[in-house]
Amino acid sequence: MEMIKIGGLETFSAVDFPNQIAAVVFMQGCPWRCPFCYNTNLQGTDGPDEVDWNKFIEFLKKRKGILDAVVFSGGEPLMQDGLQKAMTEVKELGYIIGMHTGGYRPKHLAEVLPLVSWVGFDIKAPFAEEHYDRATGSKGHLPKVLQSLDLLLDSGIDFECRTTCDPRILEIADIYTIADELKAKGVKKYFLQKYRPVPSDKVTTDAECSKFFNDKELLEYLRKTFTVFDTRM
Ligand code: SF4
Repeated sequence: MEMIKIGGLETFSAVDFPNQIAAVVFMQGCPWRCPFCYNTNLQGTDGPDEVDWNKFIEFLKKRKGILDAVVFSGGEPLMQDGLQKAMTEVKELGYIIGMHTGGYRPKHLAEVLPLVSWVGFDIKAPFAEEHYDRATGSKGHLPKVLQSLDLLLDSGIDFECRTTCDPRILEIADIYTIADELKAKGVKKYFLQKYRPVPSDKVTTDAECSKFFNDKELLEYLRKTFTVFDTRM
């Protein structure tokens, strides 16, 4: 197997793939440095291999009939060159595949999409280069994100877009902008996720984090804009 590095494992989840009971593999490595990241231990590619791939496959063999799906999460799964092979191996065991991604490496996404049944796609900021750079703590990734989103839309695969509402990065007006941009592209499902201050953030208050979710006008607008909209607190 080419590089496939797992930084963590959730053996039973009912919330990471809609309507499916899934195991979630947290892939080690992410090219971005989002200021609101709660998985900083997964960012470096040189982190410890917490879970041996072959042991994970043995675990899946024993969980048939209990689990429906495997979700490849991160970190950023599209960083891993061995992702396609890994997904193929899991699919051959009879599991359906989900993926959480920010859309890094559209070429790699195109390769794995035929294996995937559902995608949770992170939208970090409005589609303006400078803003996206700030939200991802890195430079120049927006064109790849847009390519990946177009690939997803063209594929017909079930997917949702979701945004973590970090008030240090986003204003309420930005959520309107994101919603309009996603709607113009044809996105049907959108979720707002509450930011919970990361340990290094000593200043952001809960009131600031909650303002997106207390804004009835915004929530109403999002309900009207998307076929499916909800919040995750
Ligand atoms: S994309 Fe996800 S894992 Fe990577 S830095 Fe951002 S929040 Fe963390």
